[in-house]
Amino acid sequence: MFFTLYANYKGEVLDHPNIRMLGRSGQEWVVPREDEMIPLPKGSSLVMIPQHIPVGLNEHERLAYFEIDPVEEGQRVYAVGALLPQGFTRTLLPACVSSHSEGNLPMLGYAAVGLKGDRIYVAAVKSDEHRKWHPVHYNTEGLPAKIEKMLRKYPANRILKQLARCSLEYSCYTAQNIFYQRWEAGIPTFGRCNAKCIGCISESRGGIVSPQSRIDFVPSVAEIVELAANHLIKAKEAIVSFGQGCEGEPSLNARNLSKAIVKIREKTGRGTVNMNSNAGYTEGIKLVCDAGLDSLRVTIFSCNESNYSRYHCPVNYTFDDVRKSVSYAKSKGVVVAVNILTFPGFTDREEEIESLLRFINEYEIDMIQLRNLNIDPEVLMRYFESDALGIGIPHFIEILKKELPRVKIGSYTHPVSKKTTS
Ligand code: SF4
Repeated sequence: MFFTLYANYKGEVLDHPNIRMLGRSGQEWVVPREDEMIPLPKGSSLVMIPQHIPVGLNEHERLAYFEIDPVEEGQRVYAVGALLPQGFTRTLLPACVSSHSEGNLPMLGYAAVGLKGDRIYVAAVKSDEHRKWHPVHYNTEGLPAKIEKMLRKYPANRILKQLARCSLEYSCYTAQNIFYQRWEAGIPTFGRCNAKCIGCISESRGGIVSPQSRIDFVPSVAEIVELAANHLIKAKEAIVSFGQGCEGEPSLNARNLSKAIVKIREKTGRGTVNMNSNAGYTEGIKLVCDAGLDSLRVTIFSCNESNYSRYHCPVNYTFDDVRKSVSYAKSKGVVVAVNILTFPGFTDREEEIESLLRFINEYEIDMIQLRNLNIDPEVLMRYFESDALGIGIPHFIEILKKELPRVKIGSYTHPVSKKTTS
């Protein structure tokens, strides 16, 4: 049994001894099952949920909203959630209500938390190894000096200036990896997009404030090659990824990127050249695949055509174009991953699972990445109201593993071993 955690007006996290924890799945509040909860992993952060109060179950199994601190008379309390490190998939959102109407929650992936014995648990499952994404490896004391050193080495490179800003202002890990010269590094190149996703993290829309702004210039092929080749030559387990949180849709810049990929591969055969994309612009996808792209990660909220359109609001493409792009990439030997924007109570609905399984099998997708969707649940559920209930994220992942034994299930892009693509 898990008990509700809350924050007092001093920001201290406390447990309520009589109120049992609830979690949220879609529009439902549920009592968490043991398989939906794990001890809070290192690298997580416990956060207050602004202007929200916790909801739990009292000793009479009745819903209990508590606004006032049971310990400090008259003091307000706040709901609490956890932000998970990469490698963990959230199974339930916090059960809480807004203490006043206006305004959406920040675009963060809040997961439900509770106390069992003297240990804090979170509603999550481990879905990938998180060694390379553990916060201890980032924002280190030496980072500013590393940034300065590389900016001096490439003084005219505008991408690097953008990545310095993303590293220091947004604490972006793929930006920082360019300066640490290791693992997956992001190379943003294009500010415009051919979709208007409800939960876009790089463009504010409909009262939802995006946490970062988009790149406002188009770098030259030389600027791209300079950084990407250097990273692939020097970095351990090197990946360069086009399509970052501070840009729009990279495939719209395919003319430049395809030239860059050819030049990068003239300099080095090392590492992985990856693109994160909505894959709606098939002509662009064809260009970068023909140029030598190693892996393509396609972000999808739903493989059900109407739900896809309702979430991604494609401007001048349809889900069918995404199918054509994926099919072309596979025909060229590109490793294709589907990045499922995961939301408990939606992604684990039976019809969503069936659509996903059909899509994965039809196009022989190589990997499914599970990405916690950072959006205010009230906003998302307004678009996807339904009586259909989720079967539970752990069960959903079990089905994927059982039905798709050949497919890798994880949380982020892995280096492509050259044998895979030859
Ligand atoms: S595809 Fe990416 S950049 Fe474009 S609207 Fe969607 S989330 Fe934003």
